[in-house]
Amino acid sequence: MNKEFIFFSKKVYKCNKCARLVNFRNKITLKKRKSYLDQVYWGKPISGFGDLNGKIIIIGLAPAAHGATRTGRVFTGDKSADFLFNCLFKSGLSNQPNSDHIKDGLKLKNTFITLALRCVPPEDKPTKEELKNCSVFFKKELNMLKNKKVIVALGKIAFDACIKFYKENYGLTGSYKFGHGSKYNINGLTIFGCYHPSPRNVNTKRINATKMTHLFKKAKKLI
Ligand code: SF4
Repeated sequence: MNKEFIFFSKKVYKCNKCARLVNFRNKITLKKRKSYLDQVYWGKPISGFGDLNGKIIIIGLAPAAHGATRTGRVFTGDKSADFLFNCLFKSGLSNQPNSDHIKDGLKLKNTFITLALRCVPPEDKPTKEELKNCSVFFKKELNMLKNKKVIVALGKIAFDACIKFYKENYGLTGSYKFGHGSKYNINGLTIFGCYHPSPRNVNTKRINATKMTHLFKKAKKLI
């Protein structure tokens, strides 16, 4: 494992900057979901996961309350993870179609997954200030991913965080609209918007496995 990334992740795990999110995180960790009462929740912020030399970067919004906040790995142990990894596997970007727990043998191929926000927000709604606080980590991690060629942003918040990153750090100007399949060429890389694989989006059929797999295959063709 890359020393810089280990050092970075240790800093992430210790972060307590957003009081509201720290309280919420702690509450979830102590209360737990009934079906996981026998488990010890991770209960700390979440770092990225995957191939640090990967060319495809997938960005989610934030850890799920009983997914990553419980297991300690991004998109692991919940319905969004089941959906996402089924699609990544079908696209040839992961070695298995499931992401259940940190010792499940999961490996990403040429792909890295991270988050715009590293602590679970109440009702999946972070404040502007919380996103700003966490953008320090977002920036550091994106800068570590030297081989990135394609970014797939899952949901509007992740998409906007990417655009903000390029505006603040690379002088990007103009307006960029999120939509499923929206595609922009920015600073030598391609950014795709993609609906988030949340149960809400899946149940309302806003996103389905065919649509998401198709988008991942398109991203793969570009690398
Ligand atoms: S959301 Fe980010 S900045 Fe806020 S406490 Fe969590 S890790 Fe720290």
